[in-house]
Amino acid sequence: MNKQSDVVVIGAGLSGIACALRLKAKGKSVVLIEKNGKPGGKLDEFENNGFRFDKGPSLFTEPNLVDELFELFGKNPRDYFNYTRHHESCRYYFPDGTHIVLYDDKEKTIEGLKKIFSSEDVTAFSRYLFEIEKSYSGIGKFFLDNPKPELKDTIKWSFIKRYPLFMKKKMRVSLDKYNASKFKDLRLINLFNKFGTYNGSNPYEMSGLYSMISNLELNRGTFFPEGGMRSIVTSLIKLCEEVGVEIVYDEEVTAKIESGMYSLIGKNNYTCNQLVSAIDHLTFYNKVLIDKDLFSKYVKKERSTSGLALYVSIDKRIPELGLHNILFSTDYKREFDELFIERKLASNPTIYIHVSSEINSSDAPENGQNLFALIHTTSYQAPDNVFIDTMKAHLVKRINDYFGIDITDHIVNFDFWSNNEIETLTGSYMGAIYGGTSNKLTAALTAHPNHSNKYPNLYFCGGTVHPGGGMPLVLRSAKIVADKIS
Ligand SMILES: Cc1cc2nc3c(=O)[nH]c(=O)nc-3n(C[C@H](O)[C@H](O)[C@H](O)COP(=O)(O)OP(=O)(O)OC[C@H]3O[C@@H](n4cnc5c(N)ncnc54)[C@H](O)[C@@H]3O)c2cc1C
Repeated sequence: MNKQSDVVVIGAGLSGIACALRLKAKGKSVVLIEKNGKPGGKLDEFENNGFRFDKGPSLFTEPNLVDELFELFGKNPRDYFNYTRHHESCRYYFPDGTHIVLYDDKEKTIEGLKKIFSSEDVTAFSRYLFEIEKSYSGIGKFFLDNPKPELKDTIKWSFIKRYPLFMKKKMRVSLDKYNASKFKDLRLINLFNKFGTYNGSNPYEMSGLYSMISNLELNRGTFFPEGGMRSIVTSLIKLCEEVGVEIVYDEEVTAKIESGMYSLIGKNNYTCNQLVSAIDHLTFYNKVLIDKDLFSKYVKKERSTSGLALYVSIDKRIPELGLHNILFSTDYKREFDELFIERKLASNPTIYIHVSSEINSSDAPENGQNLFALIHTTSYQAPDNVFIDTMKAHLVKRINDYFGIDITDHIVNFDFWSNNEIETLTGSYMGAIYGGTSNKLTAALTAHPNHSNKYPNLYFCGGTVHPGGGMPLVLRSAKIVADKIS
């Protein structure tokens, strides 16, 4: 069978779904092609014996970007998808036994900080929040909401007026050095270094300008969808069905361009005028529109981190754990040296623990919890069974060290997701969640653009291209591409 449409979007992850919906709203006929039997990509879920887990993202910021997709069709998002603003952003546990909670209510946060940090550092904390909002509004949003600037754009007034912000000292020092210039206490420096991991990079190398990553979480708030993260996908797919975005599952295609039209060959044949890759651009050049030159060019860029997610169901409650928790390692710098310089798995990593059952009580039986523990891994070494067992033991030990609770005999199910599974299931090259790192000063300018400079009418959205990975950014690239096409 040969299907013809204005646009084909490859990959029904969040970016592909959002882009297809936006194109449909602009009156285009769209076919969305997905290699798996279900949509969502990294926004997957599974259920085991009464415990439900979101497999990938857990931190939800800027829900308005999801709402917008319903509003494009004159629908009320609340008829499809609901969420609540969360009163805590994260609980941080430090190796010296102290802990702090960052609340949505800043005054409450400050009261907690005063108990363990110097007044100088507490004042610096408030100033930091003010500065990241300023950088984000002045430069961040400009970069994120627009296509990647080309050389010719740098002489436009919209760019020139931001030069003073680009020239700031924080651009030229690492995120860690920037944070160390703001705080005396290593715990606060590490806390703000953590945000460098949100795009899979090394806080000891990436520019201090990325300090503004924390702005969304710390100033604009964190949210949680009713029914868990997966409900973002299910509600958007319902919208696709209602408005007539055609989705083809279990379909993997190769593409070629002939007389300005794209032909895609899989189980069916597809032809279109415009093609959108909503998959890892390296996988696209390696497997779809095979181009060894472009593959070689982009593969040279250092790969971002991947991750080892441990899904641990326990028939016990650890009251100290909230929705989002960080258990810091004893030597944060060492952890990143191992991941980025030695390119090996960190021996004593920091652990992020997400417990969705704290909000969504149906995600675990009463008196149980669904612990999603995430450990950053290098994309250059996939964890083997020995490492996975070691990390499971590491998690058990750290929980015991911090909370005095031994969960060994309380684990009722254990599962994991790691570099290899992420690569196989979602097509992320080497399992790198965010494509290339932002470790070099020029990273933002050398990211893969949202359109091809070589092939006509070929566009890119998703976590490995401008403006980057993470749900708010992939939703932005979907918009950039749909606007470019229209
Ligand atoms: C463990 C983990 C935790 C994360 N935590 C967060 C978080 O807390 N907050 C946050 O904002 N972000 C988080 N992220 C990042 C976020 O999940 C991604 O940036 C985002 O979901 C990527 O969406 P995407 O559409 O670009 O790609 P994907 O979700 O990877 O979707 C790509 C889709 O394309 C399909 N595909 C691939 N190749 C082909 C092909 N050849 N043909 C057809 N289809 C193909 C795949 O099957 C997949 O469905 C996390 C990611 C992981 C893995």
